[in-house]
Amino acid sequence: MQPLRGTKDILPSETEIWQHVYDTARQLLSIYNYKEVRTPIIESTDLFEKCIGNFTDIVNKEMYTFNDQSNRSITLRPEGTSSIARAVISNKLSLNNQMNRLWYAGPMFRYERPQKGRQRQFHQLGIECIGSAKPVADTEVIQLADKILTKLQCKEECNLELNSIGNIEERKLYTEQLIKYLKKYEEELDKDSQRRINTNPLRILDSKIYRTQEILNNGPILKNYLSLESLKHFEQVCKSLDYLNIKYTLNSYLVRGLDYYNYTAFEIKTKSYSHQNTLCGGGRYDNLIEQLGGPKTPAVGWAIGLERLMILIKQKLNTEIINKTIYIATENLYDINVIWDVINILEKYCLKFELDITDTTTRKKIKKASKLGVKICMILRNNEISNKQIIIKWLDTGKQQIVNFSNLDQYTDYLKTIF
Ligand code: ATP
Ligand code: MG
Repeated sequence: MQPLRGTKDILPSETEIWQHVYDTARQLLSIYNYKEVRTPIIESTDLFEKCIGNFTDIVNKEMYTFNDQSNRSITLRPEGTSSIARAVISNKLSLNNQMNRLWYAGPMFRYERPQKGRQRQFHQLGIECIGSAKPVADTEVIQLADKILTKLQCKEECNLELNSIGNIEERKLYTEQLIKYLKKYEEELDKDSQRRINTNPLRILDSKIYRTQEILNNGPILKNYLSLESLKHFEQVCKSLDYLNIKYTLNSYLVRGLDYYNYTAFEIKTKSYSHQNTLCGGGRYDNLIEQLGGPKTPAVGWAIGLERLMILIKQKLNTEIINKTIYIATENLYDINVIWDVINILEKYCLKFELDITDTTTRKKIKKASKLGVKICMILRNNEISNKQIIIKWLDTGKQQIVNFSNLDQYTDYLKTIF
């Protein structure tokens, strides 16, 4: 039996890294007073149609939609923001113009062709800062994405791209001009872009096809259609990012796939050339909650694709986790209660350990530890045990020390400080 196409088991060899990502994000977000929200995985189909828009890829061809037994159209959530906007309205979270700083993490579903970094069930971690139209909110959320990636030691491999896509009127004006321009070159555009001229022309800016990009290079530029107010908002975000020393590239073709964004749009991409190089996508959505029937509530947020993040950090963090594990190799597994004393000390200092209880020689156990990449091996051989001693072997250097049991607590305390 195989799992369904585009879905994967997250195995024990990976869960620790997933937990590390969640822990890192949770700790930081809680300092900034972001609170976790858990919305249902199923929602009414029309929620996504209204929020994401009928002409987007997601609604058009990627949704897992089915009728339930009462013939209601239900969809497995393809993203998080729509559900959060719905939750803000149904639970009246925005009453009295209250701010809501929220975060979520969980599975999302899109019917796409599976490939590296693209699955049908995948996971996102996202945050939403709801209730402020001020550029400081945009900066806050961007800064948080930047900090999370820094803490996960992958910022060096990432680029932040920024654009302002203005408000609905400005975008409408620009779209009209863009359509007019592109119609002149319709024959030369790629098939997808030809289709999008009439359905979702802004998405053409996102095209990866060389000839299409070439045509766009001489076309109208969104920035020239923005009002002073839009430009000022964007300038303020950029200035704050400069102050925070967060590097970014301006990308006037960045529009994001979803309909609900306005003003700031941004993506964090990895420096790899694969098509799946967008790690984080986000932006401002000032009208979404009102459009859904709620009070006018400006908001800004982002979502990170966790599978893509894992690809980036897996190797480094895995090595780190293994490096920090202490391997216990014993000559004998019967009648040596000293094992429990050693374990108790390791637990006291919260040091992770692996007690090898297989039926092999000590030498083979040490070899196994070495192969795994473990740094420290505690060796319990009958000879030393009878002298109330234990061997500590540093597998990276081959150095070996004999420690008296009576000093093991103190020695472990020292180990803790170097980890
Ligand atoms: P892409 O252009 O790669 O399809 P997107 O614009 O559809 O991305 P968003 O809707 O902005 O993606 O979702 C935010 C993030 O979620 C993406 O940047 C990506 O990291 C992740 N993501 C989106 N779709 C998938 C998927 N099918 N499998 C894995 N991760 C995904
Ligand atoms: Mg997509």
